[in-house]
Amino acid sequence: MNLSQVRGMMLFTAEQMVESEPTLTALDQIVGDGDHGIGMKRGFAAIITLLQDPKFQPTDIGDLFSQIGTKLMTSMGGASGAIFGTLFRAGGKSVAGETELNTAILSTLLNEGWQAVYQRGKAKPGDKTMVDALAAAAITASELTTSTLKSALPQIAQSAMQGAEKTKQMVAVFGRAKNLGERTIGHMDPGSVSMAYILKYMNQYIQM
Ligand code: ADP
Ligand code: MG
Ligand code: MG
Repeated sequence: MNLSQVRGMMLFTAEQMVESEPTLTALDQIVGDGDHGIGMKRGFAAIITLLQDPKFQPTDIGDLFSQIGTKLMTSMGGASGAIFGTLFRAGGKSVAGETELNTAILSTLLNEGWQAVYQRGKAKPGDKTMVDALAAAAITASELTTSTLKSALPQIAQSAMQGAEKTKQMVAVFGRAKNLGERTIGHMDPGSVSMAYILKYMNQYIQM
């Protein structure tokens, strides 16, 4: 995928994330403070504006993703603004200068992004956060680096969704959800669903 195709994929993904606001809001109403859908909608609406602006001319794929990260960070607020902003910003920096997105590059982006998210928020897999979806996706991506993106992304997206599903059984220890403790059992973490959705929509685009 070249830079303009990746830009198209991220525009589609941002549009779908805006549409997902009610689902994400409903989840955060159960497990958190109810603002996750609104935050994601605000962040990805800002991404739509950025990507539709003809004056926005990223130099390469790394630059595109890191500028998306910066925009999410400055527009979203909340825990997830910092967390998703960090994922894209650090992930983008780790693939600076790349002009083609393939599975190996996506693997680097997800794995380096995961490490940066860990540095930032200290959540490990099992703590009922977006890291449960991100880590699952990053591991699957690293196992598929020699496959084409079109054949690897369905599996990467599926791993992320399975990671999100697993958060149902977990007790939250981070963010607002930790105050609810055991009451969060049986419900998915909203950030993990956002993470899985981002990869699901990227995959939908690439399969079109
Ligand atoms: P807030 O918690 O400030 O209301 P949001 O509702 O937008 O922010 O986002 C909550 C999501 O952020 C959680 O569902 C979780 O996935 C993610 N999150 C919270 N804290 C952390 C952390 N330390 N590391 C990774 N993700 C986190
Ligand atoms: Mg919230
Ligand atoms: Mg909040």
